[in-house]
Amino acid sequence: MAEFPCTRCGKCCISLGRHMVLVKSVSQFSHTLQVRVSGETLPVQVSPRDRDLFLSRTPPAYEPGWCPFLRREETGAFVCTIHSSRPRICRTFQCCTMRIFDQEGSEVGMVKGRRSLSTEDPRVRRIWDDEIVPFSTLSEDRFLNHCRSVLAVNGYGCEIYDS
Ligand code: SF4
Ligand code: SF4
Repeated sequence: MAEFPCTRCGKCCISLGRHMVLVKSVSQFSHTLQVRVSGETLPVQVSPRDRDLFLSRTPPAYEPGWCPFLRREETGAFVCTIHSSRPRICRTFQCCTMRIFDQEGSEVGMVKGRRSLSTEDPRVRRIWDDEIVPFSTLSEDRFLNHCRSVLAVNGYGCEIYDS
């Protein structure tokens, strides 16, 4: 299994946005953040290298509803501007347990937990529902081996992450 690689797509930080509340500002780059879903309240500091980006508060760098510390770079990549002091929920969050790739290496599916597949590819959907889900009661190792071999036979690769 591989270590989970975050692609900085920003989806989780956008959807978590309404639960992240800036409750106090000590200075421009030093704040108190409350995480409503966990009740965690903590001091956070904007990373020195992201200070200019943090001060951008209009689209496309920032949009209302996002986590107050999320910003989008000109390249389109998302940045947590308090990365080294971010809350525990963000440090431990993992959006998927497996990614599925086609022969060109493009991601065609993402799995959460054991059975929940997100894909726009009808062939991957059919393979998952017909040839993998019925085996989801196997032990962890056998199930993962089954996933790998079924996907490989059908021309797909996968990366499975430690959780
Ligand atoms: S954890 Fe997942 S959803 Fe969140 S930014 Fe990384 S890849 Fe995107
Ligand atoms: S604190 Fe950082 S990692 Fe957590 S939701 Fe906000 S931008 Fe994302």
